Amino acid sequence: MITTGQIIRCKAAVAWEAGKPLVMEEVEVAPPQKHKVRIKILFTSLCHTDVYFWEAKGQTPLFPRIFGHEAGGIVESVGEGLTDLQPGDHVLPIFTGECGDCPHCHSEESNMCDLLRINTERGGMIHDGESRFSINGKPIHHFLGTSTFSEYTVVHSGQVAKINPDAPLDKVCIVSCGLSTGLGATLNVVKPKKGQSVAIFGLGAVGLAAAEGARIAGASRIIGVDLNSQRFDQAKEFGVTEFVNPRDHDKPVQQVIAEMTNGGVDRSVECTGSVQAMIQAFECVHDGWGVAVLVGVPSKDDAFKTHPMNFLNERTLKGTFFGNYKPKTDIPGVVEKYMNKELELEKFITHTLPFSEINKAFDYMLKGESIRCIITMGA
Ligand code: NAD
Ligand code: ZN
Repeated sequence: MITTGQIIRCKAAVAWEAGKPLVMEEVEVAPPQKHKVRIKILFTSLCHTDVYFWEAKGQTPLFPRIFGHEAGGIVESVGEGLTDLQPGDHVLPIFTGECGDCPHCHSEESNMCDLLRINTERGGMIHDGESRFSINGKPIHHFLGTSTFSEYTVVHSGQVAKINPDAPLDKVCIVSCGLSTGLGATLNVVKPKKGQSVAIFGLGAVGLAAAEGARIAGASRIIGVDLNSQRFDQAKEFGVTEFVNPRDHDKPVQQVIAEMTNGGVDRSVECTGSVQAMIQAFECVHDGWGVAVLVGVPSKDDAFKTHPMNFLNERTLKGTFFGNYKPKTDIPGVVEKYMNKELELEKFITHTLPFSEINKAFDYMLKGESIRCIITMGA
């Protein structure tokens, strides 16, 4: 059946209200305009960022909305003027983009594309602000330009990484957010040297991917910090060598870590979204050379407070989206690392569900039971 240029009717899980279960609806997905592609999503997974914006407790509410940004699929059709993508290409949609033409895309140091950088408040397409999703003519908002909780979605081509068609999409879909974010935060941002110590705050998929980065970099000690002790057993498989649950100590966790490491860790990576953990992750690095990076998404009213002397004492604080990877340029290479067995993805996948049961994936994440839950579309 030729669908090019036609509206596609398909299933999508629509969030009508904050914190309420998603509802399976038939939606109309309009064809892609200039510079856009329509993708048939085959697998999607749930990341904590989806959950924050769905809960909308510390974030601006925007409903009805189709969430989802960690996914893999196949290009169904392309809009006018596109030459780098074709129907049939295997792709990962990515929540932040690469236009290829702005000062950030030209800089080796940045992935904060002027045109396509992450924008959590935008509910429509980039050029006209309009949605490509509707139900009986009523528009449904997009999320992060990806909206992968739909069997078909329309994405800007700058947010689409074309990958090896032999890569299994039910595994490499996690490369489209959590895996790359954590791995890159370690390897591209704090860059531990061989033999250094690394603390990881938050042992979900993002933190465990950061731990993988530390292991690949040859870290001597990888200290995992989490409020959920159930994470510790799982984390051993990711090379985490020691564990700290802040709830087990009367002292601030910064002090606990300083005592364990003779003054502080060499590097730390925060992957929790808690502003307290962000402050702790910075203050627990060694003076003179310690570097910390913030990865967790804060609430909109959070403020980071620390004494300026912590910086004067030669500690460095950084932050990153998507582990500093440029989505189109770098992500096909991360997928190749999996294909060459340099990266293991299977151990991140603790649960699988058919699309019709997507709400269960939210429960698993909220209860801290899952690392990643892969959702099979069309099932
Ligand atoms: P997750 O829920 O699977 O894992 C988070 C872990 O942090 C949990 O195990 C939780 O128990 C722990 N935690 C929460 N508060 C803590 C605290 N105060 N101290 C210690 N541990 C604490 O989430 P995830 O999908 O791995 O995502 C992690 C974070 O990264 C989220 O904030 C998410 O929004 C963010 N994120 C950022 C980017 C980026 O590009 N910067 C990309 C993806 C996800
Ligand atoms: Zn994510």
